[in-house]
Parts: sequence; structure tokens; C-alpha cells
Amino acid sequence: MKLRKVSAAAAAALVLSLTATACGGDDDKDSGSGSGDGGTIKVGIKYDQPGLGLKEPGDKFSGFDVDVATYVAKELGYEPDQIEFVETKSADRENALARGDVKFITATYSITDERKEKVDFAGPYLLAHQDLLIKADSDISKGTDLNGKKLCSVVGSTSAQNVQKEIAPKAQLQEYSSYSECIANLQSGAVDAVTTDDSILAGFAAQDQYKGQFKLAGLKLSNENYGVGVKKGDTATVDKINAALEKMVKDGAWDQAVKDNFGPAGYQNEKAPKIGVIVS
Ligand code: GLU
Repeated sequence: MKLRKVSAAAAAALVLSLTATACGGDDDKDSGSGSGDGGTIKVGIKYDQPGLGLKEPGDKFSGFDVDVATYVAKELGYEPDQIEFVETKSADRENALARGDVKFITATYSITDERKEKVDFAGPYLLAHQDLLIKADSDISKGTDLNGKKLCSVVGSTSAQNVQKEIAPKAQLQEYSSYSECIANLQSGAVDAVTTDDSILAGFAAQDQYKGQFKLAGLKLSNENYGVGVKKGDTATVDKINAALEKMVKDGAWDQAVKDNFGPAGYQNEKAPKIGVIVS
């Protein structure tokens, strides 16, 4: 009799703990404690950037940012099946971290002084450069050629900011919420060019449905130092992630991720950055 009561209580406790693990709440703990306690960790990525962060049919995720996130999560104590990927579009990243929706973000997220006021960064783990994607027969060949032209980029990105501030202030900039929308507009002829990081543009250009249609201008219009975004003040997680990134480069996993994800697009990446060194 007594025994039965104890087991019922134990079963109830188990159900409770499973429920607590399974239900994604919105407090900080639910994004992952970083202690590898058998729970899950929430990680922000892009869902529509081939080669970097892509949600594929069957809830599969691929890309360099996904591989970096998976390596980092493992070092924090989480196996791949304990990672819950969450879409963090360019304009949503700071808020997602501030709200505690995700523990960290690997989403082509450039480290900038402005962003550092709101979030902390580990890294950098990749150096990319802003470029233009244009139709294969386009005669646009430099940044200033964009003045007066229709240009597409994404709200909340450094790419859109750089165009307005420096590259071509007189371009007719259209800002969408994701780069895949810009690519569709380039294909239809609604815009003359798409601007963002070369790493992202190369991934789109290599897609079967776009092969032969587009080219990268190859302009290196900026330096984009990709960091792992973390909630402001969470220095313990920043330190752990920096150690994970250093290990990833040392043990060859970084090179392998480059080969797997950038190889198919023929993207010539820069060598692995040094942790804490920003190329301005
Ligand atoms: N790396 C740039 C940024 O963080 C452009 C790519 C993006 O929007 O994710 O804004």
C-alpha cells in the first residue's frame, strides 16, 4: 500500500519535471541553463540562408551557423537532439536575446559597437564582406553605380545601414524582413541588386533554381565579423563559447564546417579569425 503511494508520487514528480522541460516558457532558464542538465537549449539561427542557416523539409537544419551552434552547444553540455533552433531574423536578434527567447544566436550576426550596447558577443568566428548580387548580364560594377537604382536589403541589417550611410545614399533601398524575399525580387526584375554579406549571397547564387542567373560583384564593401550573440551581461556564457570556438578551430571542426557548407557554393572564405580580434 505504502509502496504504491510512493510510486504514484514519484510518477507525478516525473511527469511534472518532464512537463517543465518540454514546455518552452519565456523566462531565462528555458532558453537553456548551459549546465547540460538533460534539458534543451534554444539557439537562434536564420531559416532561409542556404549554406549558413537553412530550415529544410522534415525540420532539418543545415549551414555553417548551424554547425557552429551544434559544436558550441555540445561544449555547453547539450547533444544535437537537445538543441531547439528558433528563427531569429535580422531585426529580431537583439530583442530575442533580451527577452531570453534563446540562449545564444549564430545568425550571420555581425559584431558592431551599436549592437554591443544591447547584447554581448563571443567570437568572432567568421569574417565576411558586404557585396552585391546582380543579374548575370548586369553592368553594375561598383557601389556608386547603385545610386538611382533599385536595391534590396533587410531591415535591421548592417548591409542596409551601410548602403544608406556610405555606399550609395541615393540608391532606392527597399528593405524586407529576409534575404530570400530580396532574391525573389531580383529574379523577377523588381530590383536591380541585392546587398548583404558575400557569404550569404554566394549561398543563394549556388542554388539550383538560380544557377547561371546571378553573379556576385566581388566588391568587399565592408568587414562583417560574425559573433555569437548572448544576453547582455552573461559573461560566463561568452567565456564558455569563446573557449568552444577556439577548440573548434584547433581540432579541425571549423575547417570541416567551412568545406561542408561553403564548398558547394564555391565561397572563398577568409581564414578563421582570432577570438576577440575585430577587423574594422
Ligand atoms: N552580417 C550582417 C548583419 O549582421 C548582414 C547579414 C544579416 O542581416 O544577418 O547585419
